[in-house]
This record gives sequence, C-alpha cells and structure tokens, in this order.
Amino acid sequence: MKDIKIQDYITEVPDFPKQGISFKDITPILNNPPVFHQVVDEMARFTKSTGANIIVAPEARGFIFAAPVAYATNIALVLIRKAGKLPRATIKKEYDLEYGKATLEMHKGDIKPGDKVVIIDDVLATGGTLEAIIEMVEAQGAKVVGLSVLADLTFLHDDKIIANRQYQSLVNY
Ligand code: IMP
Repeated sequence: MKDIKIQDYITEVPDFPKQGISFKDITPILNNPPVFHQVVDEMARFTKSTGANIIVAPEARGFIFAAPVAYATNIALVLIRKAGKLPRATIKKEYDLEYGKATLEMHKGDIKPGDKVVIIDDVLATGGTLEAIIEMVEAQGAKVVGLSVLADLTFLHDDKIIANRQYQSLVNY
C-alpha cells in the first residue's frame, strides 16, 4: 500500500478541548492497520538510523507509537509519566503549560550517562513537552540524538527545539 497519505487519517476537531484550538485526532490511524503499520515502520527506520540505544516516550499517545517501534527495532523503551504514576524513585521536571504547570517523571536509573536517546511522541505543538523531556534526559548525561513525531504543528513553536538534531515528522501543519 504505497499511496497512503497519513494526513488523511488525522481528523481535525475544531474547538477541542477548548474554543479556538483545532485538535488533531490521530485515532483514525489506529483504526486502519495499514496506516498504523506505515507510521510505525517509518518511525522505526528513523530510530534505527540515529544509532540510539534508548527510546523515550511520554504518556499517553507517545506510548502507542513508541512501544511497537521499540519492539520492531529491539531498542529499550523508557516511559515518561505525569506526576505520581511511577512507583519507584523518579527524576522530575516541571514545565509550563499554556495555563499553569505540569510535572513529568521518569524512573531514576533508566537512562545512563552516554546513552543515545530518540524521543517519540504523537504531536509536537508548543514544544514544551519535548523540551522538558530533553532536559530530563540530558541531566542524566545522555544525549538526545533524534526526535520523531507523527504530526508537527509547525506554527506553534520555533525551530530551536529541532535544530541540530536528527528530526522526523510524518505530517506537518
Ligand atoms: P506541546 O508540549 O505543546 O508540544 O504539546 C505536545 C503534547 O500535547 C503531546 O504529548 C501531545 O500528545 C499533546 N497534544 C498537543 N496538541 C495536540 C493535538 O492537537 N492532538 C493530539 N495531541 C496533542
């Protein structure tokens, strides 16, 4: 199935979760196995090409793509969760949301100095989530060698976050 256009399987939902936001609903990709296959295959190809030995992904939709990529590439997967969900000692990072703040956590010891990390998520919007994850990873002496997202809302962030890194986005808005 060569001529799948992934963007056709992302539905734009106006005014969700609030007025003025056009939410990108990626779930039609999951409902269409050949499209999901293509997305995972492309992310896996990219991830392998970076030479990474760790994949890092935030909940919840990052997990959906990162887990099959980890399986396909045989690369370790490390999970980033919202505060209070992980059972062992964690590293925390607070970051700014449009209104207020949020905290992300990862288990201490999952990433070691010298590790090479690819971060996988569904949507890059303002870049706040990826930036917080990059800081957490680099604070442990590892290097973020690549970023892979399904959809990039290019009008919401500057290029700083993707500059000087290997970067993959499968759909751009
Ligand atoms: P950012 O931190 O502003 O870049 O937002 C990215 C995070 O919010 C990702 O983890 C996404 O899952 C989620 N997100 C933001 N906008 C959308 C959207 O339109 N559709 C789906 N997820 C979104």
